[in-house]
Amino acid sequence: MKKYVAEPFRIKMVETIKMTTKEEREKSMAEAHYNMFGLRGEDVYIDLLTDSGTNAMSDTQWSGVMRGDEAYAGGNSYYKLVEDGRDIFGYEFIQPVHQGRAAEKVLFPILLNSDKVAISNTFFDTTRAHVELAGARAIDCVVEEAKQPSLRVKFKGNMDVEKLEKLINEYGAEKVGVIVMTITNNSAGGQPVSIANMREVSKIAKKYGIHLCIDAARFAENAFFIKRDEEEFKDVSIKDITREMFSYADTFTMSAKKDAIVNMGGLIGIKEDAELYQKVKGNTISFEGFITYGGLSGRDLESLSIGLYEGLDEEYLKYRNGQMEYLAGLLDEAGIEYQSPVGGHGVFIDAAKMLPHLKYYEYPGHALAVELYLEAGIRTCDIGSFMLGNDPDTKEQLESDFEFTRLAIPRRVYTQSHLDIIAEALINIKKRASEVPGYRITWEPEILRHFQAHVEPIK
Ligand SMILES: *Cc1c(COP(=O)(O)O)cnc(C)c1O
Repeated sequence: MKKYVAEPFRIKMVETIKMTTKEEREKSMAEAHYNMFGLRGEDVYIDLLTDSGTNAMSDTQWSGVMRGDEAYAGGNSYYKLVEDGRDIFGYEFIQPVHQGRAAEKVLFPILLNSDKVAISNTFFDTTRAHVELAGARAIDCVVEEAKQPSLRVKFKGNMDVEKLEKLINEYGAEKVGVIVMTITNNSAGGQPVSIANMREVSKIAKKYGIHLCIDAARFAENAFFIKRDEEEFKDVSIKDITREMFSYADTFTMSAKKDAIVNMGGLIGIKEDAELYQKVKGNTISFEGFITYGGLSGRDLESLSIGLYEGLDEEYLKYRNGQMEYLAGLLDEAGIEYQSPVGGHGVFIDAAKMLPHLKYYEYPGHALAVELYLEAGIRTCDIGSFMLGNDPDTKEQLESDFEFTRLAIPRRVYTQSHLDIIAEALINIKKRASEVPGYRITWEPEILRHFQAHVEPIK
């Protein structure tokens, strides 16, 4: 059994969670049209829907909340955030926005239009949506190893650089509006990207004069993997690794609700292009709010600044990764397959393997998510064909490379015994896996349908 890495903190405040019965959960699930996003938070026992904005802030961050400067223009908290962002990422321009997708909404229309495509190691769902909303098409280009969940190799989040160059030549460099490096690669299972890969992608981007943007939600977890697994960096600090990662790109968009350990916030970083920054400021004012608050309160800016540094703390990152390793270890013992080696922010169960009787259009990742809720009040979500949605041109259901049920672990929130309960629930479901029904959609919106779609079990 994997040893649990003890928490490098103690608990100062607690939040009671409600215990529910199976009958209550069946009722709640049906009322939510079998959509995990339709459940009420209070009806969930362990909420692994996302690690986004579900973090527990520290006492230092909460003290920062009290110091937030709420000036409409030119508040202290803004200047502190810009300074800290420059210090950590080495970029000249730092623009706060209210969350990651806001960063995408502000930046992508500047880089993309209906003549363009965008290529990524794997687009996250909102990122793909904003590429499409800007009129462009999104192409995923992850290494082949990522598509085999049981294959244990390092840096499965990497870009397939050979395929990238082929794609650029196929479309013509002038048609590629942006290359996006998602670190860690969320949709591929929170898998990290190596510096070696960043260097190669950066070289190709420079060769063809294409803009390189980092989708930076989990930059610190990615840096942790680089330190652990990339020989060259074993004695380099997480902060210096972070600097090096960002040195290869032109811009970044960031959801601060992940590694910056806050409940709301986002950032855009621009390395040096003042002209681009001017356009970003324009869009920020239109969509988000004035430049010096970007859709956030001063107190949010303050806790974000503090969280950026807390997220880089090595003892914290060891504990964080230890939780993933511990849960993955329990699943190994039970013969439950997941995207392995385990990634940075959660365990991505291979639902196609666990429920082999379900086809991709019966949404195995979603089916297992519903089952986990009914079994133990654990809320997770599909990262597979249900999330991927329909082809924007043909409207046909796309087949995802993966059918995952994502167990995203919130930061500094759950304990070892919660992880034990999660493993136990999965083991129970595995025993009766062949009885788990598939699902069909009865209503769906056009974009980001998984958040709102109504589904029902196939009888
Ligand atoms: C969460 C996330 C986003 C979007 O950020 P929000 O804060 O949820 O809007 C974009 N990219 C990646 C990789 C993410 O994980």
